[in-house]
Amino acid sequence: MSLVTVKFGGTSMGNHDAIAQVGRIITDLRAQGHRILTVVSAMAGVTDQLRQAARSAATGDDLTHVDIVNALRARHYETVEQLASDDKIKKATLEELDMLLGNLNTMCHSIAVLREVTPRGMDLIMSFGERLSARVLAAHLRDRGFASLAIDASELIVTDTNFQDAAPIFEETNRRVQEFLVPYLESGSLPIVTGYIGATRDGIITTLGRGASDFSAAILGAAINTDDLWIYTDVDGILTTDPRIVPTARVIPALSYGEVGELAYFGAKVLHPKTIQPVIDKNVPVRVRNTFNATHPGTLIQPQAEITAGAIKAITVIRDVSLVSVEGQGMVGVPGIAGRTFMASARAGVSVLLISQSSSEQSFCFIVPQGSTTTVLDAVRRELRYELERRDVDRVWAREDVVILTTVGAGMRGTPGVAARVCGALSARGINILVIAQGSSEYSISLVIQSDEANEAVRALHELI
Ligand code: ASP
Ligand code: MG
Repeated sequence: MSLVTVKFGGTSMGNHDAIAQVGRIITDLRAQGHRILTVVSAMAGVTDQLRQAARSAATGDDLTHVDIVNALRARHYETVEQLASDDKIKKATLEELDMLLGNLNTMCHSIAVLREVTPRGMDLIMSFGERLSARVLAAHLRDRGFASLAIDASELIVTDTNFQDAAPIFEETNRRVQEFLVPYLESGSLPIVTGYIGATRDGIITTLGRGASDFSAAILGAAINTDDLWIYTDVDGILTTDPRIVPTARVIPALSYGEVGELAYFGAKVLHPKTIQPVIDKNVPVRVRNTFNATHPGTLIQPQAEITAGAIKAITVIRDVSLVSVEGQGMVGVPGIAGRTFMASARAGVSVLLISQSSSEQSFCFIVPQGSTTTVLDAVRRELRYELERRDVDRVWAREDVVILTTVGAGMRGTPGVAARVCGALSARGINILVIAQGSSEYSISLVIQSDEANEAVRALHELI
């Protein structure tokens, strides 16, 4: 018998058929004798609807949120109707949902009166999706004769007060999990815990950031010392690249923690980037699997990397970025210009995705999200105004028509010639490389190219896998 933590995303919770399938996965595991901790997302689309309810209310509109809440009620009621046949269970669940939805409406009304929504208010509103979906699944399992209870993670995950993107405080979280969740699991019941949410020490609800239910599952899984963590989604696993660009993209059988970190950082959307962080110290194997193709093994993410022959395992593209360059003959040997440039960007609240400097020191460049181009240019020009006046720096400028293309694979460490193969594949197609950067982990090589050549470049590199 082992302890398995399973997480189901929004599509897996999307309607009654999907939730019935989730129920089967859980009860099959149970029949194999495992203890199971389940973490769920809101039904697909619900979190966006909640945000819209709050936003519209914040403009003083006291009607739109009523429509949204009614739509949410109809959808959740319908799902319960389909998933619970026992009248008592059905009635109790609908009452519970109704109470939550009533609260939600009242809160939106308060926002409409105040015409303002704070990040803290936003978190409260956006927490309702998971609180609703967890109750629906628990009711379904009870209806099928299992002991199951929906638990709000606000009782378990203690966070800081950084609303909308709160960070867990692990020590206190672990203590609460040991105290409240572990005994329940040990009793053989099936707890269904909400993803995405936590609460401050004072019990004020927070959210861990969009898509963070994966992260919640990892936090809770690590806290119960889970043997396995399975992230169920609607694709077979992590793919070699975006199948819309390369139809022959395939599931990667195994990746290391390091490789997945690099992939998540460079834009692969399957797993929330923070998911691995809580399980690293405990060496928990993580699997990404498909709810709707439950026999597929998915992608296994483990502490160590398996080196594959081609060295490259995956290719990602980050679009909507700009390449900012700082150029000048007079920069040679002048310390601090790069440092001040990055400090200026950081002070402007912009995070830099990639940095490259030519060894001649006559220029360096970096990538920022396209939406922050003007902010960064203004901040850097202000910071370097004397150097610009003295012509030590000739110009600070940006190109917006670029993408970052990243190849990921641990085998690139110490394998000579991978960069050459990558660059060769692109030049064979006449694709010009503007910037090259290798991560110091040597798990990835990133290239900046013109955006209209992105898809062709991905296809060319995919042939190298
Ligand atoms: N429901 C949340 C979101 O849509 C969290 C998640 O699904 O992981 O962002
Ligand atoms: Mg997700």
